[in-house]
Amino acid sequence: MMNVPLLVPTMLERAEKYYGKKTVISRTADGKKTHNYKEIGERTRRLSNALEKLGVKQGERVGTLAWNHHRHLETYFAVPGLGAVLHTINIRLAPNHISYIVNHAEDKVLFIDEDLLPLVESIKDQLPTVEAFVVMTDKEELPSSNLEPLYHYEKLLEDGDPSFEFVKELDENAPAGMCYTSATTGNPKGVVYSHRAIVLHSMALGLADSAALSENDVAMPVVPMFHANAWGIPFAAVWFGTTQVMPGPYFTPKIIADLMASEKVTIAAGVPTIWLGLLKELEEGSYDMSSVTRILCGGSAAPKGMIRAFESTYKIPFVHAYGMTETSPLVVLSRLKSYQQEGTEEERLDIRAKQGSLVPGVEMKVIGKDGEVAWDGQEMGELLLRGPWIADEYYKDERTASTFKDGWLYTGDVVTVDEEGIIKIVDRTKDLIKSGGEWISSVDLENALMAHPDIFEAAVVALPHEQWQERPLACVVLKESAENVTKDDILEFLRPQFAKWWLPDDVVFLKEIPKTSVGKFLKRALRDQLETHYKDSSLTNQ
Ligand code: ADP
Repeated sequence: MMNVPLLVPTMLERAEKYYGKKTVISRTADGKKTHNYKEIGERTRRLSNALEKLGVKQGERVGTLAWNHHRHLETYFAVPGLGAVLHTINIRLAPNHISYIVNHAEDKVLFIDEDLLPLVESIKDQLPTVEAFVVMTDKEELPSSNLEPLYHYEKLLEDGDPSFEFVKELDENAPAGMCYTSATTGNPKGVVYSHRAIVLHSMALGLADSAALSENDVAMPVVPMFHANAWGIPFAAVWFGTTQVMPGPYFTPKIIADLMASEKVTIAAGVPTIWLGLLKELEEGSYDMSSVTRILCGGSAAPKGMIRAFESTYKIPFVHAYGMTETSPLVVLSRLKSYQQEGTEEERLDIRAKQGSLVPGVEMKVIGKDGEVAWDGQEMGELLLRGPWIADEYYKDERTASTFKDGWLYTGDVVTVDEEGIIKIVDRTKDLIKSGGEWISSVDLENALMAHPDIFEAAVVALPHEQWQERPLACVVLKESAENVTKDDILEFLRPQFAKWWLPDDVVFLKEIPKTSVGKFLKRALRDQLETHYKDSSLTNQ
């Protein structure tokens, strides 16, 4: 067969050629803008050319600090279209982490949304590799800023060549994108995506038993474009000629609901907190959600109650998926097999609340205490992955050695696998509670706690224990309406659901659970807080 390289710019060329009329609807700081793929193609070519004129060379990194909008989408193709590497930066990271990753990636140019200029200004003296800043704004004038040299995105485009030819003399294994994942300890770790990985991952998003993204869809990535490339949706959607809706800056559940209804979105993707917010909005307002054929949800576990609410109350099919920055990210997705459609509603829901099965193209191994685990839905082990869109190292980082071994990615996620090969994430290895040589899933305990009518949120962590090594401790935030709920009430509530040795040794009541920049529980901070201040008055054992 022909050895034709798989290259990112060819995806945009397809959209320009065959789907020139299809559109990208973009909510920006100043309104809503619509461009078709012919226009997006032309603007992207201008941008590629402008970057070349700014001196960006093949292999060099170009950073973005931006929300989801059409200009960000253009950088997705303009940068790899020049053979350079698109580095999407998490705008919610602490400024010292942002300067760390810009320096570590050695970004040469930074694209910045106007509202994020102050963030970059505050660290500007710590960015020696950056030679140019480009502000993405709808305004005519360049905003005042002490960043230098500062370019206006639209003015750069005006000077660019609309028929610029994308670079094609490229190895498909050359880097096209890059993203840093927040580490639990130490600095963020960089993952570099090749052209080949992005193209193959996009293909996987289009498979009928996967996300089934197609030209017929109107796709809205709510997941940020700096979070594992908005799960690869912008790349795939362009390639397939899918209409896209970009939700822009500072969106609220109302904005999301309005956009979904007005643009007749068919597929939207985001983390569970987004969908919990939308559910509340749907309860309060009146929206026509009849266009939506599926919501894609990943990043952390989707509670079963939420899946049920979307499907039974609002008739919106819900697809649970799993992945990580290191895996492009899509690797596991929950769909019923043909013969599983026959079960009761509750049985079907139980299957779909799990993370699901591997998408074609990816392989797994699950290693427990005694080697590969049995597929019995009980035995727990760490999930190992390999495949053409799985990273095989961290960018210039010695932590590569502990995560990538023998050709496998050690995900750090502990799972069970049932007879059907369906995966359920039970914990992160570092959060699993190892009590007397046995494992306790903090996630299972948390889910049970959060089903208590008076509990708003709950996290369970391991505390060191002399006899048992570790024991679970439940940290609980009560709902405002809760009255006189005691530790014993909570333990009594858990008792019938778990073996005795799984029950937490103690329950502490907190005002809130510390969270990461992407809304996940920050258990390290919680453990530190508890170990140091266990007897502190801010923690009250009622
Ligand atoms: P980080 O959390 O380090 O910022 P990622 O966004 O790449 O970076 O997170 C990947 C992790 O998120 C996975 O290793 C897993 O622990 C968790 N995760 C992702 N999807 C799910 C899911 N559907 N259910 C449970 N956990 C998930």
